[in-house]
Amino acid sequence: MELQVSNSPFNEEQTKLLNQLLPTLTGAQASWLSGYLTALQGTGGIALAAQPQTGAPSAAIPAKEATILFGSQTGNCSGLAKKLSKKLSEQGVNVTLSSMSDFKPANLKKVRNLLIVVSTHGEGEPPDNAISFHEFLLGKRAPKLEGVSFSVLALGDTSYEFFCQTGKDFDQRLEELGGTRIVPRVDCDVDFDEAAAGWIDDVVRKLSEGSAQASAAASLAGTALTETESEYSRTNPFHAEILENINLNGRGSDRETRHLEISLEGSGLQYEPGDSLGIYPENHPQLVDDLIEAMGWNPEESITVNKQGDLLALRKALLQHYEITVLTKPLIKQFAELTSNPGLQELVEPGHEQELKQYIEERDLLDLVQDYQLKGIPAASFASVLRKLPARLYSISSSPKATPDEVHITVRAVQYEAHGRDRYGVCSTQLAERLQPGDTLPVYIQHNPNFKLPADPGAPVIMIGPGTGVAPFRAFLSEREETGAEGKTWLFYGDQHFATDFLYQIEWQRWLKDGVLTRMDVAFSRDTDQKVYVQHRMLEKSRELYEWLQEGAYVYVCGDEKKMAHDVHATLAAILEKEGGLSQEEAADYLHRMQQEKRYQRDVY
Ligand code: NAP
Repeated sequence: MELQVSNSPFNEEQTKLLNQLLPTLTGAQASWLSGYLTALQGTGGIALAAQPQTGAPSAAIPAKEATILFGSQTGNCSGLAKKLSKKLSEQGVNVTLSSMSDFKPANLKKVRNLLIVVSTHGEGEPPDNAISFHEFLLGKRAPKLEGVSFSVLALGDTSYEFFCQTGKDFDQRLEELGGTRIVPRVDCDVDFDEAAAGWIDDVVRKLSEGSAQASAAASLAGTALTETESEYSRTNPFHAEILENINLNGRGSDRETRHLEISLEGSGLQYEPGDSLGIYPENHPQLVDDLIEAMGWNPEESITVNKQGDLLALRKALLQHYEITVLTKPLIKQFAELTSNPGLQELVEPGHEQELKQYIEERDLLDLVQDYQLKGIPAASFASVLRKLPARLYSISSSPKATPDEVHITVRAVQYEAHGRDRYGVCSTQLAERLQPGDTLPVYIQHNPNFKLPADPGAPVIMIGPGTGVAPFRAFLSEREETGAEGKTWLFYGDQHFATDFLYQIEWQRWLKDGVLTRMDVAFSRDTDQKVYVQHRMLEKSRELYEWLQEGAYVYVCGDEKKMAHDVHATLAAILEKEGGLSQEEAADYLHRMQQEKRYQRDVY
């Protein structure tokens, strides 16, 4: 039926344009457009013309809408949110998908079905792109949300005290504000695939009840969709060949930092500077053998390693499939149920929380079986309570433009002594000690839209990355050398000793000479009586640094989250106060705004 001014809310010119366009649309295009317009109205994504005061009601009434908000540090939550969006769209639900930092809180009142996918970091903190929304929702200005249905998927790690805290905060607050749960919150441990898939299926089932299959669209507000077309992913890693594996530290250094070059040839995997490489490691063979011996198991015994009933020889399963180096509270509780050891029973009883917390620190399964005589538990029962060995993420230190089909990483070998025994970082030690060029590793790309060079190649860039935190900045500068980006760049770098620990020294010097790097300030913490850190160098240059900020510089911080990132943040605030005459509150606002504008990005853990 042709549109007319009399049977539609459109004026003559609009009717003419629509009559030209509509007959040319395929079914899929028509349904996409319908969903798109609905989603835009829901979020205020574009400025639609003011509503007509009179006229016929709109013809296309959408089926259901859902707004998915994610808060993601490493990209896992954004990946799951996209998966959920796709599934809902396929069921005819109109989806708005957005990072929490891109979502306008004022639009919350318009949302009917709110789905939150969020991770937790450090001591129960939200990821950077969830901080403002978390603050808003938990604060006084949050609106009443009666009539809003919601559900929360929380990602976390049971080895941390405040497991899934951010997800729990959102879930509780949405209920307090009057919302109704679509399905209960699901808290996922590091091995989140199965639990997350279950939550997604439940949400999709609930929301697609009664929904027409027709109008489906995903409005990707503010989401950089960098999903590659590769068949390889986190759940199907590519077995990549190692091309180079060298120690970057000089003789006499306390540290060992490996530079690895890995071939992605034939994988179709693509990445950008700022992304990370996921690696599925293997446990240390000595630790596996010691554990098998302590338990008196047969290493060749077959055990079932998943719900599909796949069998693996015990030794192989402990090498490749199970986490054996981390103790968590839930794990200890499960072991207490498998044994009658009175000491372990007591450790999990109420009133012993502090003792339990202290015990699990820097201890592994070998300690547990030795300290609490767990010998006698059959291998299959023992394995059934273990977590799957999670992948490790390393910030990529190369640019695909400079080294196509390759990815480079910069990894510090973690080794220390605790409770009378040497301890080894699972992946870093495997990379440092047991892998040579020619060997292969299961890898995938973890995209990180929250750590990206500015779109404007002329914008100034400040990079702060002590230790291996400098890795992504090698990728940034490599990329800028290839693209000829003209904006000025400033790197703050530090490590213990100039002579042995100056990672990639020759490359920075070459980039300084060529103008790819405009300035570099270094802090070698143990070459002087007093410790000198990157933030001390920043303070020394506070005037210039402030000027760069005022010129619109983008600030990137990578490395240790616990101390360095906090100290650097405090130093940025101090510089704003000192040089800009801002109050403490104004400086905090300034940094907050920079974060909102993506001019202050951090890749820290
Ligand atoms: P590191 O231990 O961070 O040491 C690098 C330099 O930073 C040393 O000179 C150290 O001095 C100094 N430092 C210590 N405390 C500091 C503080 N509060 N503020 C500023 N500088 C401080 O180096 P690393 O072994 O390479 O470890 C880097 C950390 O970053 C690790 O925690 C790693 O997991 C993390 N990392 C994260 C990412 C990421 O999030 N994508 C990427 C790479 C690395 P002293 O040792 O003399 O005290």
